[in-house]
Amino acid sequence: MLGIEESEWMPECNATYKCGITFSGWSTKPGFESYFHPFASMLDNLTMTQFTHNARARRNGLDVEARPDRFFIASYLAKNHMAPKPARNFPFDVWYGYHFDAMLVGKFLQKKAIERGVKYVSCHVDKVNMAEGGDIKSVTTRELGELDFDFFVDCTGFAGILIQKALGTPFVSFSENLFNDSAVAMPTPLGDRIGSQTISAAMKHGWRWEIPLTNRRGNGYVYSSAFCSADQAEKELREALGMLDSPTEARHLKMKIGRVTHHWNRNCLAVGLSQGFIEPLEATALLFIQRTVQNFVDAVEHGDMGEKVREAYNAKINEHFEGTRDYIVTHYKTNSRKDTDYWRANAANPKISPALLELYAIWMSGNSIAPEVGSQRLGKGYPIFSWYCILAGMGIFPDPEHLRKPEGGALYSMEEIDNLLTRSLANFRDQREVLADIPPKAKEPSLQIYFW
Ligand SMILES: Cc1cc2nc3c(=O)[nH]c(=O)nc-3n(C[C@H](O)[C@H](O)[C@H](O)COP(=O)(O)OP(=O)(O)OC[C@H]3O[C@@H](n4cnc5c(N)ncnc54)[C@H](O)[C@@H]3O)c2cc1C
Repeated sequence: MLGIEESEWMPECNATYKCGITFSGWSTKPGFESYFHPFASMLDNLTMTQFTHNARARRNGLDVEARPDRFFIASYLAKNHMAPKPARNFPFDVWYGYHFDAMLVGKFLQKKAIERGVKYVSCHVDKVNMAEGGDIKSVTTRELGELDFDFFVDCTGFAGILIQKALGTPFVSFSENLFNDSAVAMPTPLGDRIGSQTISAAMKHGWRWEIPLTNRRGNGYVYSSAFCSADQAEKELREALGMLDSPTEARHLKMKIGRVTHHWNRNCLAVGLSQGFIEPLEATALLFIQRTVQNFVDAVEHGDMGEKVREAYNAKINEHFEGTRDYIVTHYKTNSRKDTDYWRANAANPKISPALLELYAIWMSGNSIAPEVGSQRLGKGYPIFSWYCILAGMGIFPDPEHLRKPEGGALYSMEEIDNLLTRSLANFRDQREVLADIPPKAKEPSLQIYFW
């Protein structure tokens, strides 16, 4: 949308392509110990029906293949460390995301903004001054004194000094739904191959991310401080990474999980962590930033910044937040681990939204979840196929002893699906090779976001 080519920004930000996420160790059900949540592609239209059909058939007691991994090209690419960039003659569009160094992206965008005429000053805001009617009038900065503006964007992270502290916008905590409030991060060397997926591996009191960049692998353990101390978490992370005796320092972070009630309040727009955060699982925060900004730009371009427009705007952003939260909650609620109090408490957590309870009931009844997701806020967070992926991927099906072989065999041949997707792989190359050879001024749009 900004007209910035991958060939320009990706190398500067140590970026890699991302085909999706592998969730490992979240379910203990035999055959479902790990599953893949893909970015879908046009090619998947040839296998999506088979996947949803099989997932529904298995819910109704038929012993058919229903783990998402075997139905999506992205999962084949990820397994083989391939980039989602097919040969030119490949007749399908493939969708994907990115991994990158967020600090470098920040610097890159700052440079671009300044080139395009944005005036940049770096100041510490000591005080926020209010106008008589309740709007923000100005900010008093340490370096430049009082700065008076018509409109303010709060990008102060969890501090939320404009939206929360100055304007007093209420904060809706999600801590009852999502227990994690802390993280510890440390990098490791990349290894021979560059992966094209995020790995989210369950740990004793949370989960661990593994994200390949071009110069290192980012790792972090997201956990709940109610169940695990910072020292315990660091030790468990180091153990998992084989870094117990390494001098590499770990970085500890606290997270505030929830959202403000009004992302656009009076003459202030909150963007990023100042507006809210739903923990890093599924990596949704930067997408929220984009949606927040894009919807705001749309509203401003229509020329109306009045109360009604603001209310509609806030309702829309809140729906994204709540729908996404419910999807993230599902990872925890459907876990079948029994090894720690943390996992048992998550599975037993009664703080589930009514929409989510209804969805689970429909899934268990064996009916289609499409109408429910489509008509509810749930679909504003994640598309229908993602809901299929998570519930099928976690193995939310009748126990194996209650499954029966389909009479006359399965409707769809898994061999044919495997063949189709395996043959398609010939059109893709290893991620390391592709990154070393990003075509200058590639024609592809710089950001693809998938809405189902
Ligand atoms: C553990 C963790 C993992 C994450 N993983 C992902 C992921 O995988 N995918 C994803 O999309 N997002 C992820 N995020 C979220 C993502 O990092 C943030 O959304 C993104 O960095 C934007 O942050 P921000 O600019 O809102 O806040 P910050 O990066 O915290 O920036 C806030 C800035 O405000 C400044 N500031 C504060 N007070 C003042 C003041 N008084 N005066 C002047 N300046 C001030 C601070 O110095 C800071 O520079 C993750 C976040 C965390 C915590």
